[in-house]
Amino acid sequence: MSNQTAFEAASTVIPGGVNSPVRAFRSVGGAPRFLVSGHGPYVVDVEGREYVDLVCSWGPLLLGHAHPAVLDAVHAAVDRGLSFGASTPTETELAEAVIARLAPVAVEGRPVVEQMRLVSTGTEATMTAIRLARGVTGRSLVIKFAGHYHGHSDGLLADAGSGLATLALPASAGVPAEIAAQTLVLPYNDPDAVTAAFAEYGDRIAAIIVEAAAANMGVVAPREGFNAFLASVAHANGALLIVDEVLTGFRESAAGWLGLEPVAADIVTFGKVIGGGMPLAALGARREIMEQLAPLGPVYQAGTLSGNPVAVAAGLATLRTADAAVYERVDLVADTISNAVDEALNAAGVEHVISRAGNLFSIQFQSTRATDYAGVQRQEAFRYGPFFHAMLEAGVSLPPSAYEAWFVSAAHDDAAVSRVLAALPAAARAAAA
Ligand code: PLP
Repeated sequence: MSNQTAFEAASTVIPGGVNSPVRAFRSVGGAPRFLVSGHGPYVVDVEGREYVDLVCSWGPLLLGHAHPAVLDAVHAAVDRGLSFGASTPTETELAEAVIARLAPVAVEGRPVVEQMRLVSTGTEATMTAIRLARGVTGRSLVIKFAGHYHGHSDGLLADAGSGLATLALPASAGVPAEIAAQTLVLPYNDPDAVTAAFAEYGDRIAAIIVEAAAANMGVVAPREGFNAFLASVAHANGALLIVDEVLTGFRESAAGWLGLEPVAADIVTFGKVIGGGMPLAALGARREIMEQLAPLGPVYQAGTLSGNPVAVAAGLATLRTADAAVYERVDLVADTISNAVDEALNAAGVEHVISRAGNLFSIQFQSTRATDYAGVQRQEAFRYGPFFHAMLEAGVSLPPSAYEAWFVSAAHDDAAVSRVLAALPAAARAAAA
């Protein structure tokens, strides 16, 4: 089957031919590649073409595709049954594994995460975190930052990053104005804006939600001290800080971005790596906050497939395999590739900066590094399409948008990295044109 045939067939029965808008090639042009398999750092499309994959399923595949330890765990779980709608001991093991990883992130000697609730998607995790914060505080308003993406629940789509940034949508149709009005959208990395919001609405603000490091408008690191400032201003005003680690968690370090920059988060959300490529996400907090969730408390949350045993098996195997050597490799590959992108674009005379937060990075096609969404949108994003297609032609699959992070894995060996490096000079020249 040709890729074009696959795309046309999909477009007949699936809007845009994709089941998530970020997979579309709208901003770079052309038909999205239809994939049939993945192994290590590679994916293979319906035409049998192999690509070095720098999307990694948008983050979950820290160990690469079809890692044997993960596949073995999944096969064993499948043989025991797909879903029980009842508790399984492995859910406890996963919660224990996450709590152990986060143990160093403690405030006044007390871990930030003492209990967990497993859900199926990052969207559910952040949606539940917000309901929990509202339940705990008895307040309604939520602060989010422009360009941050926390999933597609109604209240969180205003000025969101990811697919909305790619498609230049300020918000989604279908969200009632009354619901959108519960979200205050502020510029990122701007403490004064946060102080002003608390001065105006202080006793109505339930929570601030922030990506641990922003990576859905391209990568934009938090300014030094910004996350800590958010914790202190929230707490001074009786609000909670929700740190969204769905994308960064267990990727930036064993304890995620919080492992690199611990702050006094009240609720932490996880997704992507925690499920190792299967639908799994979670939220965690101190015991007295988590005990507000049903069945113990009045804040309701549920899920037929929450803590699904096959997904939990994949997540547990991923976390158990992700040792120090894995993080060293991911960091090294990110360094090597991002430095090479920088050099290639310099050699081609393309104005740009590489924007990094730990091992996550993306290109900004402008000379000064932007630290917020308005700044990021000023770049010459039109240069990304030709760059992207030249890389694809050379067998490297990048995120199909300038407003997304590049993801590497520990499976990106020297051969895969060399293929990426070899493709860069021509792609940089394409970006220059
Ligand atoms: N939060 C962040 C920071 C994300 O990057 C994402 C997805 O990209 C989500 C939440 C939503 O996760 P999901 O796509 O699993 O619903």
